[in-house]
Amino acid sequence: MDENRAAREIRPYQLMCIVCRSGDADRDERLDGILQAVREDPNRPLTLRCNVDSAYRYQNPGREEDSPEGDLFNEKRDLDLLQRLGLVPGDTRPAVELFERLFREVPESRGICGYDGVTADHWRGCDRAESGAYERGIAAGLQQIVQARDEEEKGRFKRDSVDAMYRASELAIRPHHLMCMACFHGGREELEPIAEDNLFEAIDIIQKNPDIPVRLVRGCCEICPPCSRFDAESGLCGGGVGMNLRDQKKDLDVLQLLGLAYGDRLPARRLYGMLFERIPSTRMVCGYGDGVARSAEWSVCRDPKGSEAYARARECDMGI
Ligand code: SF4
Ligand code: SF4
Ligand code: SF4
Repeated sequence: MDENRAAREIRPYQLMCIVCRSGDADRDERLDGILQAVREDPNRPLTLRCNVDSAYRYQNPGREEDSPEGDLFNEKRDLDLLQRLGLVPGDTRPAVELFERLFREVPESRGICGYDGVTADHWRGCDRAESGAYERGIAAGLQQIVQARDEEEKGRFKRDSVDAMYRASELAIRPHHLMCMACFHGGREELEPIAEDNLFEAIDIIQKNPDIPVRLVRGCCEICPPCSRFDAESGLCGGGVGMNLRDQKKDLDVLQLLGLAYGDRLPARRLYGMLFERIPSTRMVCGYGDGVARSAEWSVCRDPKGSEAYARARECDMGI
């Protein structure tokens, strides 16, 4: 395995401490090392290991990185945090996903790093729990931990990619983005471009030339270059909490339902005819057929019963 991609091990509570200490002059070498690695590669995998009883002990890391408040507090703090994150000991995720979850699910340290009232000295909690440092780190935003994409770069990619799309003799689109184009259209007569993606432009090109060939591509496509989540260096989507997995499954679902494969090239009008006939509702793809979100990673986009915007676009064949 590429050394840079090897999972780095971390105690769950240390995710919080990285945020808590992000504004500190007083640095912690171990946490700084992890933060540096995450900044260099936000998709670097982190494995959450903590000391537990019973079956999950296969991943117990030992007590070396316990903080000084004692075994019980250390055990409880890690499990309290895992519970809030919806994860279990030994889980590995891209670092950016873990921090995204932390910022979303754990806005304050109360109840994890310290408790209302001290019931015994070994339940006194961390000295910093009432300092507000963690909450200030959260208020400073995720970009303090993982740098957001540069706005100038996004603008440049928007201009260049749109220019290339309008000059090209075909469109290169990942399969489920055909559906997202329909959701964006939503049955509207007047559409406008947005800064964050190229959905408008792809629709506009198809409406002006319904027979333009559309090539079905794997991974990021012509919709993606200006997106905040697009990593220009790798060409990968940095969409959080399993978005990559959901998107790949949606792409494969669309290909399976249409009987197509990556690399297939069809005139847009014919492709949309097949799409709207065989996939009448986003529930079939974006709702996994039953509309049930079984975990944070397998969340459902829009209405689990099916996106109304998609239905409206389907009704008018997306104006093609
Ligand atoms: S309060 Fe203590 S344990 Fe909690 S995040 Fe801050 S430094 Fe870490
Ligand atoms: S519901 Fe599906 S098709 Fe619509 S925007 Fe979400 S992912 Fe795209
Ligand atoms: S979130 Fe990912 S797949 Fe969606 S437009 Fe952005 S880069 Fe592309």
